Amino acid sequence: MGDGLTDSTAVTTARTDGPVADCVFCQIAAGAFGTPFVAESESAVAFRDLHPQAPTHVLVVPRRHLGGVRDLGLDDAPLAGELLALAVEVARREGVLESGYRVLTNDGPDAGQTVFHLHFHVLGGKPLRGGLD
Ligand code: 5GP
Ligand code: ZN
Repeated sequence: MGDGLTDSTAVTTARTDGPVADCVFCQIAAGAFGTPFVAESESAVAFRDLHPQAPTHVLVVPRRHLGGVRDLGLDDAPLAGELLALAVEVARREGVLESGYRVLTNDGPDAGQTVFHLHFHVLGGKPLRGGLD
């Protein structure tokens, strides 16, 4: 009870097997807009952010709709690993593996989440600001 790890009823909400209507990342992942993928894997795709904050700014997105990192359960461990591995592959392809890069996700209002389909930002290609807020 309480931490969502042992009580399956505590694991939330925004999980579905199909695309969610009006979810732009579901549509992009399904190829609806012809958005080029920087990289892809069985369960995830990576594409450039519309408003890049750094020379490399790529979003790594599961093909399946999850609202945010809060919706990754223990049974999603393979997907979580695949998302991080794809983020590293993006960094490699973008040539920032050695210079350094940041992988981050925003979950909820205080973090500034604006698209409610789980995504990891991969940022690099310049010295990134220090600090975590
Ligand atoms: P968040 O603020 O939720 O962590 O990040 C959402 C990101 O998605 C933002 O950096 C925003 O620029 C990006 N974004 C929003 N809509 C689109 C879109 O239609 N296409 C792409 N490529 N990026 C988008
Ligand atoms: Zn979605």
